[in-house]
Amino acid sequence: MIEVKSLSKKYGSYLAVDDVSFSIKKGEVIGFLGPNGAGKSTIMNIITGYLSFTKGNVSVDGIDIIENPEAAKKRIGYLPEIPPLYVDMKVKEYLYFIYDLKKVKFPKVAHIGEIMRLVKIDDVGNRLIKNLSKGYRQRVGFAGALVGNPDVLILDEPTVGLDPKQIIEIRDLIKKLGRNHTIILSSHILSEIQAVCERVIIINKGQIIADDTPDDLAKKLSYDNSLIARIVCDEEDMLKALSSVTGVKSVVSLGKKENGAYDFSITPMEDTDVRAAVYEKVNRSGKTMLSFSSDTVSLEQIFLRLTESGDNDEARRMLGIDTDSGQASEAEPGETVSEESEEKENDSSIQA
Ligand code: ADP
Ligand code: MG
Repeated sequence: MIEVKSLSKKYGSYLAVDDVSFSIKKGEVIGFLGPNGAGKSTIMNIITGYLSFTKGNVSVDGIDIIENPEAAKKRIGYLPEIPPLYVDMKVKEYLYFIYDLKKVKFPKVAHIGEIMRLVKIDDVGNRLIKNLSKGYRQRVGFAGALVGNPDVLILDEPTVGLDPKQIIEIRDLIKKLGRNHTIILSSHILSEIQAVCERVIIINKGQIIADDTPDDLAKKLSYDNSLIARIVCDEEDMLKALSSVTGVKSVVSLGKKENGAYDFSITPMEDTDVRAAVYEKVNRSGKTMLSFSSDTVSLEQIFLRLTESGDNDEARRMLGIDTDSGQASEAEPGETVSEESEEKENDSSIQA
């Protein structure tokens, strides 16, 4: 649905987006995760056709954003970081205005009415936007993005500045919209992405450093693929026993945890599953295993590890991504990508 190939964007001499490629299938809900200044808004502005770019290709539903901006933009509903609301208008008046601006063909009153019910602003249709709470204003922004029924929604930090109750309401709305839209949502808040998205693209310093499901990212980064076993035993004896299991690289005791039980961190050799052998060993030694799990880390920790190490190559290595082809490999298998177009220096300005 969205194809971005070798996209670069310079502001003057500053490279804000550096050779970024990804593709998003119809119906996917994707999170753009990255610290402030990573380049999230820049990429979103480019996909929506509001910003020119220096190099690369962008298409929406097969339509090139440069060759046919009008048609591409029709497929996208965009909620910018700061929605350009006309605060002196009434809610309904504003939405009718957007309707006219977008030259929508659906029956006007019914279409706007439907959107207002969907985002739950039908009770404030005749109120001035400037008198609404921030949560309601954000909903009006959503409504504006939904006018014309675009397939794709691009939502730039949609919960910034909202209180916790409003954040939950907006998240629920995004989940609801995710059932029948393709969505890109940006955030610097991990829990937000984790709550709503099935796939996360981590952006740092203008580059993509990871593209995966939240769960797979956590797995890849779980500390050396270590396992944590809680066993009722003698600490020294069990250290020896576990170390002797075939495929185990190292064992560290994490100390006494509860009545007579110790936690052991067990690191297997690469590509080795030692779970059954460890279980068997403990059983045969007549000891009781109380729990046995992967030493997984939260997405929060992953994110900090990746973005704090200023080195994007190092971050990719942590994720097991080949640094030479890390970005190119995100393209769909079997998909042909025109290479020649990469050479052409597009700097055509696309305006709203
Ligand atoms: P994010 O949305 O991830 O916070 P942005 O895309 O807004 O990041 O910004 C990426 C980088 O580009 C930042 O370093 C920012 O300062 C810079 N930048 C953004 N917009 C402009 C602009 N209009 N002119 C110059 N630099 C810009
Ligand atoms: Mg931004």
